[in-house]
Amino acid sequence: MSETIQGQIALAGISIGRIMKVGQSLDGYMAEYSSGSADEEMEKLNNAIDVLSSEIDDSVEAMRNAGQEEQADIMEAHSFLLMDPMFADLAADKTKEMSNAPAAVLAAADEAAELLAGMDDEYMRERAQDVKDIGKRLARCILGVKAPEIGDDPVVLCGHEVEPSAVANIPDGKIAGMIMGQGSTTCHAVIIAKSRDIVTVVGIGDSTESIPDQARVLLDGNKGLIIIDPSPEELAAYEEKIAEEKAAKLRYEALRDLPAETTDGIEIQLAANIGLPEDAEAAVKYGNRGVGLFRSEFLFMGRKEMPSEEEQFEQYKRAIQACQGELCVIRTMDIGGDKPLAYLNIPKEDNPFLGYRAVRISLERPELFLPQLKAVLRAGVFGKAAIMVPMVTCVDEAKAVRSMVDRARAELDAENKEYSRAVQLGIMVETPAAAVMAPVLAKYVDFFSIGTNDLVQYTLAVDRINPQVSKLYDHFNPAVLQLIQRTIKSGADNGKWVGMCGEMASDPYAAVILMAMGISELSMSAPSIPKVKEKIRAVSIKEAEKHLAQVMQMETGAEIREYLRAAL
Ligand code: PEP
Ligand code: MG
Repeated sequence: MSETIQGQIALAGISIGRIMKVGQSLDGYMAEYSSGSADEEMEKLNNAIDVLSSEIDDSVEAMRNAGQEEQADIMEAHSFLLMDPMFADLAADKTKEMSNAPAAVLAAADEAAELLAGMDDEYMRERAQDVKDIGKRLARCILGVKAPEIGDDPVVLCGHEVEPSAVANIPDGKIAGMIMGQGSTTCHAVIIAKSRDIVTVVGIGDSTESIPDQARVLLDGNKGLIIIDPSPEELAAYEEKIAEEKAAKLRYEALRDLPAETTDGIEIQLAANIGLPEDAEAAVKYGNRGVGLFRSEFLFMGRKEMPSEEEQFEQYKRAIQACQGELCVIRTMDIGGDKPLAYLNIPKEDNPFLGYRAVRISLERPELFLPQLKAVLRAGVFGKAAIMVPMVTCVDEAKAVRSMVDRARAELDAENKEYSRAVQLGIMVETPAAAVMAPVLAKYVDFFSIGTNDLVQYTLAVDRINPQVSKLYDHFNPAVLQLIQRTIKSGADNGKWVGMCGEMASDPYAAVILMAMGISELSMSAPSIPKVKEKIRAVSIKEAEKHLAQVMQMETGAEIREYLRAAL
């Protein structure tokens, strides 16, 4: 009989494979290990470092040759970590002290990981896994533990934590999926899985232990389901879905270079949401036109101090260049809310989503805001760029931001630094106040981008990260739709373009009615672009307008959803 485990979706899709357990304990090997003198153990450590270092270099080269840049960057960082004194010196000291090289590297990795795990910053906490990964690889190397063989069936990696190297070192075609006990969707193993489109389910806790090694599993990443030893009936039921997914993938690939235009020739720009410049490079394979949201706060996370103007300039330039002449919208830091930052020393708030956040911090801290604005203005020379400000609620903020941009320009003039005068300045419309005041705000900005993730939570008073109220969180709620329509119309009335960069933009049904409202850009995580494009290419603007007229008369989100699903 099959058994089903419910997890969280990290990367959607359906696949079938055989479980390959990773991250298992080395206790058995350690018990049998006979250690030598301190000098002999040091020699084993140094040999293992050399072997691992060249293994990593070889795999990084192979990944770069295969165009897998993102995972190559991650593995290259492992090579730096391996040589980093924080780890390497500690491993050497412990080896001398313990006269047991494998135990010493594991202890050194644990200590370094503990240091990282204790940091306030989520990014640094997650790097703890990378250090542990290196420690285990070194220990395996010293103990002579061979990596498990991969048979004919593609494997589904399964462990409480999956080591980034475990995913990175399995070639395409041999890996069907990944299951993790822990629930992070931003750890390196998941980032690699996303860059390689590997179906991933996370957050199943200790249930990883009950999944037998080598078991056949059906992974439904669309629902977060893991079906162990699926029955022939279950397999048959999924066969159709797998075939559909395969067919959709082929269709999507064929769409890559086609425009997102309706059957009667109205085109809409489909851009990518990114967190780091390399995401802009990776988005190209999905046929994006530029970047509609660069969440720049990611550059500020995982560090002890804020990045300098120069560092930011380099990152923005890289993202702008990756847009190949299309617009790159760089959002100024959206710190606070669910993204606190230790070095800003912002006191803990009872209600951070309504607190000291985003533009409110930027305007009060010119020492943070000005270097960012200057970096974007300078990077603008290398393509087409825009500055976008999050969480604006009133005209005063929009005006104050403009003054800051003027001040940044004046400083660059005084410093004789080259910058672009063509960088646009826009705001996110993600508070009901901004949407209501859109007719006025439109006079002070070059564009609006609607941030539905926050607009929905603030309009409906539904915390976006609280699962208990998530059923009330609905971008088709008529209250939300009215605010969106008002924003788009206000932009059009004032000759300003309006886009959307919240999750709603990746809903193909929503895309159709947003287009009828007159939106000109939709920005989303890059893998969602093809499915939105496909829907847009299947309707005419006339049909879309007809659906919009119907939808705007409906009274509930559920009614709207049902109507659109049936009609489209
Ligand atoms: C939004 O609120 O819709 C948005 C895109 O911003 P974030 O999700 O980063 O808050
Ligand atoms: Mg937001």
